Amino acid sequence: MSGVVEITLTLQQEPKKFIDEYLKGGGAGGRSPAYKDILFGFDDVQLDGWSASCGPADSPAKYAIAISSATFLQQYLALDRLLTATTIISASAPIDRSSQKLQFLQIVNGEFQYLFDGDPRAPSSLGLSGGEHSLMRQLMVYCPVFLFLHELCHIEDGHLAYRAEQRLARKYWQLEQVREARAKDSRAMEFLADSSAILTGASMVVSSLADKPLTEKISHLKQFGFAVGLNLLLADIADWYPSRPRTLTDPKLNDHPNAGTRLVWCQYIFSDGMFKGMWPETLQANTPAKDAKEAIKAGIDQTVRAWTKLGWKRSAADVDDPALGPYMFEISRQLESPPEFRQPENPNQPVTEVTKL
Ligand SMILES: [Zn+2]
Repeated sequence: MSGVVEITLTLQQEPKKFIDEYLKGGGAGGRSPAYKDILFGFDDVQLDGWSASCGPADSPAKYAIAISSATFLQQYLALDRLLTATTIISASAPIDRSSQKLQFLQIVNGEFQYLFDGDPRAPSSLGLSGGEHSLMRQLMVYCPVFLFLHELCHIEDGHLAYRAEQRLARKYWQLEQVREARAKDSRAMEFLADSSAILTGASMVVSSLADKPLTEKISHLKQFGFAVGLNLLLADIADWYPSRPRTLTDPKLNDHPNAGTRLVWCQYIFSDGMFKGMWPETLQANTPAKDAKEAIKAGIDQTVRAWTKLGWKRSAADVDDPALGPYMFEISRQLESPPEFRQPENPNQPVTEVTKL
C-alpha cells in the first residue's frame, strides 16, 4: 500500500496546482479578485474516502475549500479498478484488461475495508503503458476538480450566504420545521452545485484545449464526465457504508440527496429545456454543444457501466425527493452571488439557451 500512498501524494500536486492557479486567475471569467481570498487544500483531518467541504475562513482569507487526502486516494483506488472494465480513452488504446469482478477497497475511519464479491487485488496500474498512464493522471486531476467546483459553487453562487440568511429568517420557527426546511434547502443546493460544477468544468476543459482538434476536446469531456460519475458513485458508497452509524431515519432531514438521484440528475441535466441560459459561452464558442453534451453524458454512463461490470452496488434514484424539481428552481431564483463574485454585465453577449444548441 505504501507505493500507492506515495504515488497519490505525488499526483495530488497536479490538481492542487491547477486549482490554485484557477483561484489566482480570478475564477472562470478570469476577472474577479475575490477568488484570491479562497483557500484550497487537501487535508488529512478526515480519513474517510469521500469528503469535501467549504466554509468561511479566518482573515486574511475569506473562504476555504478542503478535500480530504483520503478522498484523493479513494478516487485513485476506485479508478485503478474501474479502468480495467472500460475503454474510455479511445479505440486505439483500449484499456479493457480484464472483465473479472473486483472488490471495492473503501477508506473509512482511516482504515481500509473490502466491499462486494470478487478479487481483492486490482491489476496494478503503477506500471501502465504511456496512454493508460496519462489517462490515469488526467482523471486524477478531473476527479478532485469536479469536487472543488462543486464546493466553489456553494460559495460563489451564494449558497452559504443564503443559509445564513435563512437561519435568521427562521429564528422563530419550531425546531423541527427549521430542520426540515434547512435539509430541503441543502438538498436542492446540492443539485445546483453539481450542475454548476459540470458546466464550469466542461467549459474549463474546452477552453484549455481551445487550439486542439474537436476529437481531443470530446475525449477530454468524456473523461471529465467519467470523473463526475465516479464522484457521485463514491458519494453513494459513503451513504451505504458510512463512517459513523446512522442515527437519522427521516428522509426529510437528510441534508444531501440520495446519490443515485444526483447521478441521474447529472446524466440528464443536459436534456433540452432544462437550465435555460446556463450553458457557458466559452463552451458554445469552442465546441458544438450537442457533441459536448453527449460526451459528458457518455463519460458518466461509462463510469456506471464499468461500476456495474465489476459487480459494485449502487442506489436507484429517489425521484420522490421534494427538493428535486420545482423547489430547486424556486430556490435558484432566490440565490444571489455575493457582490464580490458578480461579473460585470456585458450587454453584447446574449445568454445562450440550451434549447437553441
Ligand atoms: Zn455540496
